[in-house]
Amino acid sequence: MRLTFNLGRRIFALAATYILLVLAARVAYSQDAPKQETHGIAVAHMDVSVKPGDDFFHYANGGWIKSTEIPPDRARISVFTTLDDLSNKRVAGLIEEAVKANAPAGSNTHKIADLYNSYMNEAAIETKGLDPIRPHLAAIAAIRDKRELSRALGETLRSDVDALNNTNFHTPNLFGLWAAPGFNDSEHYAAYLMQGGLQMPDREYYLSNSDRMRDLRTKYQAHVSAMLKLAGFTDTDARAQGIVELEHAIAETHLSLAENEDIQKANNPWKQADFAAKAPGLDWVEYFRGAGLSNQDSFIVWQPTAFTGESALVASTSLDTWKDWLSFHLIEAYSAVLPKALADERFAFFGKTLSGTPQQRPRWQRAVAMVNAWLGDAVGQIYAQRYFPPEAKAQGEAMVANIIAAFRKRIEALSWMNPATKAEAQAKLTTLYVGIGYPETWRDYSAYEVRADDMFGNLWRGKLFDYHRDVTRLGHAVDRKEWSMLPQTVNAVNLPLQNALSFPAAILQPPFFDPLAPAAVNYGAIGSVIGHEISHTFDSEGSAFDSKGRVRDWWTPADFAHFKAATARLAAQYDAYQPFPDLHVNGKQTLGENIADNAGVSAAYDGYRASLAGKTAPTQDGFTGDQQFFIAFGQNWSSKSREDTLRQQLMTDPHAPSEYRADMIRNVDAWYPAFSVQPGEKLYLVPPDRVQIW
Ligand SMILES: [Zn+2]
Repeated sequence: MRLTFNLGRRIFALAATYILLVLAARVAYSQDAPKQETHGIAVAHMDVSVKPGDDFFHYANGGWIKSTEIPPDRARISVFTTLDDLSNKRVAGLIEEAVKANAPAGSNTHKIADLYNSYMNEAAIETKGLDPIRPHLAAIAAIRDKRELSRALGETLRSDVDALNNTNFHTPNLFGLWAAPGFNDSEHYAAYLMQGGLQMPDREYYLSNSDRMRDLRTKYQAHVSAMLKLAGFTDTDARAQGIVELEHAIAETHLSLAENEDIQKANNPWKQADFAAKAPGLDWVEYFRGAGLSNQDSFIVWQPTAFTGESALVASTSLDTWKDWLSFHLIEAYSAVLPKALADERFAFFGKTLSGTPQQRPRWQRAVAMVNAWLGDAVGQIYAQRYFPPEAKAQGEAMVANIIAAFRKRIEALSWMNPATKAEAQAKLTTLYVGIGYPETWRDYSAYEVRADDMFGNLWRGKLFDYHRDVTRLGHAVDRKEWSMLPQTVNAVNLPLQNALSFPAAILQPPFFDPLAPAAVNYGAIGSVIGHEISHTFDSEGSAFDSKGRVRDWWTPADFAHFKAATARLAAQYDAYQPFPDLHVNGKQTLGENIADNAGVSAAYDGYRASLAGKTAPTQDGFTGDQQFFIAFGQNWSSKSREDTLRQQLMTDPHAPSEYRADMIRNVDAWYPAFSVQPGEKLYLVPPDRVQIW
């Protein structure tokens, strides 16, 4: 599935086991969901015995935290997963209609039905056993030398990474391709290549000396052996040892997540002819031939040291170990569509042991995820028609316009910023393309062949369909209005190379957005999300791109020095949060998201005040307008995670844990009088320590 581990420039982090469950939706305003009785902040979710100045997260969410249990088949629960449940239930309904529709062969509706049915038909999958994967394993077994190995490694390249939009730096293949507007020519799609080769989420899982990580590695090796055994291999303990040692060596060549987020370090244009000299070991001519990229002359190599290191490992590690590694990675990649014993073994390690989730999701929910992954736009087109009325689109657009206007005023008012820098910042806002609800054009699936009796092939061809689509467009003109997120996804995203934002239909729902709720609540909830995405345009990464999406230094040195100093203070503030004795928040790794939260809540607050047009906001449930604004913001972050999941997030996610995202309000001056926050309270900051970046 494409949605894995850390998803970054989106407003929310999703755990690996992300898709969903029982409909526990308290809220929703469409015909298939329970009618919402109240419109505004969820007072019952609060714990008013907590002082807001001591612990704002628990003040806003303590009641909900006490009364909510994490379901056994998930790693976390939050407002977001609750809405996600609703979206998935709706998608399941649309799929059910597609199944009943008996649509013409070759139509999207027919493909949706076939893909869903092929995954749900467990009996057929069991009957086929290992047959579908056997020819591919045989091809690996037949590799005779490093030249053929290089070619086979090239054949595994897929477009399964994404550095800046959905932010996924992880691929288990040796490398990953990301086709996106070029750093140095944002008018055309460029080929970005990124490090890969690990099954576990990040290099830390291989290199950390903590007891927990050592224990996890022992269990991982047992898992590798178990998977090989289930796939019919002999001598699996020795093979597993070789594979894990190779992955360990690969991990040593990898950059950390914090380093990956540094745009300046990533902008390394290499010609195809450069690879042999810059990264000797792999037979690059064969690799690119295998990948179907022989004619692609130029690439941007995100982590040159990893390419040099990984390529050298191809030369220095034995052919047999590499063949075992290839086989094992192939089995893992397709375990979800192979006999149950393999899917269960994968879940036992990656779901239970690594993320702490006791149970696998029901099969129909995994089937929904599968359809979203490979035919997501086909479903999204129907979803948008059904669940996103034109009025909701118009209201969403109006709110975005107000918050962009607020952002403009904030930039204009910055005392430290030079007029030339301000002008380019304003130009970025002028050229910003904002998509609300759904994209203007839909993906064409006619080249994707789906068969009702071939789930393995459907997944195989799905990955190749995406890959070929990306390879085909390299060098072609960029579509700035293209989305990288589905309408049925509960999230929002900033696309820095396109200077564009997307707010899918599925997030423009209560409690984030409720046309009947007070303005204070809508601005505090979805307004902060909108502000968050707008401010990514100006965060530690976004500030490296100009109004045309080019990597260009548009700052005066003094302005940039001021920006750096302010963001360093925010990083230090987040470094100080320590959820576990042995693990604190990584201020640098989460800096871009924290800047976005910081500026987002401030811009949303300004937008809210402007929307009042001088009038006093009505109180509701005894809370003033400003209080409702901040509580609604805090309630965006209501969330409970399993300990293993939280630890994984701390190490691999560019978002800080929810609790600390809610605490961002301590940097906003207006929060202090709203709740009479006094010196001595735990979140109190003296005014000079409050970080205001934009
Ligand atoms: Zn974000």
